[in-house]
Amino acid sequence: MTNLFIFNSDFRIRDNPALFHAAENGESLVAMFIHNPKKWESHNESDLKIAFQIDNLKNISKGLAELNISLKVIHAEGIGDENKKIVEYVKNNNINEVFINKEYGINEINRDQNLEKEIANLNKKLNSFDSSVFLPESIKTQSDTFFKVFTPYSRAFRSKLLTKKLEVLGLPKKQKKKIQESDEVENISISAERKKILELYLIGEEYALDKLDKFIDHKIHSYKEKRDYPAIDGTSSLSPYLSSGVLSSRQCLFKVFEKLSEEEEGIKTWVNEIIWREFYKYILFHNPRVSKNLSFSEKYDDFLWSDNQDHFIAWSKGKTGVPIIDAAMRQLNSTGWMHNRLRMIVAMYLSKNLLIDWRKGEKYFMQNLIDGDFASNNGGWQWSASTGVDAAPYFRIFNPITQSEKFDKKGDFIKNWIPEISSVKNIHDPSTDERNDLGYSNHLVDLKESRKKAIEAFSKFSK
Ligand SMILES: Cc1cc2nc3c(=O)[nH]c(=O)nc-3n(C[C@H](O)[C@H](O)[C@H](O)COP(=O)(O)OP(=O)(O)OC[C@H]3O[C@@H](n4cnc5c(N)ncnc54)[C@H](O)[C@@H]3O)c2cc1C
Repeated sequence: MTNLFIFNSDFRIRDNPALFHAAENGESLVAMFIHNPKKWESHNESDLKIAFQIDNLKNISKGLAELNISLKVIHAEGIGDENKKIVEYVKNNNINEVFINKEYGINEINRDQNLEKEIANLNKKLNSFDSSVFLPESIKTQSDTFFKVFTPYSRAFRSKLLTKKLEVLGLPKKQKKKIQESDEVENISISAERKKILELYLIGEEYALDKLDKFIDHKIHSYKEKRDYPAIDGTSSLSPYLSSGVLSSRQCLFKVFEKLSEEEEGIKTWVNEIIWREFYKYILFHNPRVSKNLSFSEKYDDFLWSDNQDHFIAWSKGKTGVPIIDAAMRQLNSTGWMHNRLRMIVAMYLSKNLLIDWRKGEKYFMQNLIDGDFASNNGGWQWSASTGVDAAPYFRIFNPITQSEKFDKKGDFIKNWIPEISSVKNIHDPSTDERNDLGYSNHLVDLKESRKKAIEAFSKFSK
């Protein structure tokens, strides 16, 4: 009676519904990881994120061994090949039942539906679980449709939180016998420079839970005041752990409510961010267009984006001549992470001032973020480009210099990432002479002119 659990995007042992239930009969269990570089590449997953997941998996393997659960690593060539390899394994190893946590992209939904049929053809059962806080099908408007606007969604989410007691699952049951030795998990090839970045992020669910505890004990109270200032360490920095499922949204909410009440503004605001994360997953689940590289809003399908490659390269390298944008992009390129306020500023600059297709920015982010999460990244990009669900209105374009003056008043963040301009008079927008003297880039585009041009272009499609 050996069951099979398959890792999708939940790299943790605790509060892992499929793993927990797969272990329930207590006989023997194999946990499978599918090494699939072709799929990772087609999803633009960054080498940082995959290497981070593999390091976490190695850590998990030790925890699984203590529970007599064997780790099995198989190889597949793209998402279309995964089921074939799973079915082969199930057949050849006399597996009893298969357990997975669902993923919400359209290809993943189709893959899992097919797997269910293929497993049924073998007279076996596929058991699918959901590791989000609430099933996406379970949050509906009063007219029985699905939400497209965040505020009413979050209201419905919160009222569910009040009525449904949140529970997190503990460790899976220890199995009677370990049926085979665990496989070694193969590393992916990653440059020495990128390996150095990876060292910034410690691994393991114990570490992530402790980081969450410390945030709740010390930082959450001032979250509302500090969260928008990139020079301050005012946010939780938990996104790499949440995006790879080392930690679950449910664990976050459970811990918050275990210790605190939601009366306080800092707590309310942070809980809201976790709800944003759940909202974008919900949007992905209910709207297949999101998985198909299309704008959420159909009216922008024929929008004429600029194909200025020089502008895109300058943006990606942090050479736009706008210090806050350049500092943000250098933070991303050097650490694999970027502060939320900056993500909005750089995304709006690319999609509005430069009129470059948000999908190019979305892809660049995915390829470089350690916390790349398809639903949140797509949601953030489409919010900034005004093509998305509940997006920023197209005419409300951030002025990056004003944003910089407001959220990096003394220029501490900019000076940290662009030390060559530390001595200039106006750190937010150095003079042409200073730029020339210090070898810092000139503006790629005039901010006022490009704003006007963007509003004109968007207004033609906004009806
Ligand atoms: C253009 C753009 C792209 C983004 N891409 C990603 C991405 O690939 N992966 C990702 O996890 N987040 C993404 N975000 C959301 C957000 O920027 C990050 O989650 C946040 O900066 C992570 O830092 P933190 O863990 O300190 O967050 P905190 O402020 O401490 O928030 C706690 C958690 O809530 C969630 N969260 C916070 N803000 C958002 C948000 N706006 N949307 C969805 N979830 C949120 C994250 O899981 C985060 O870890 C993006 C935002 C924008 C505007």
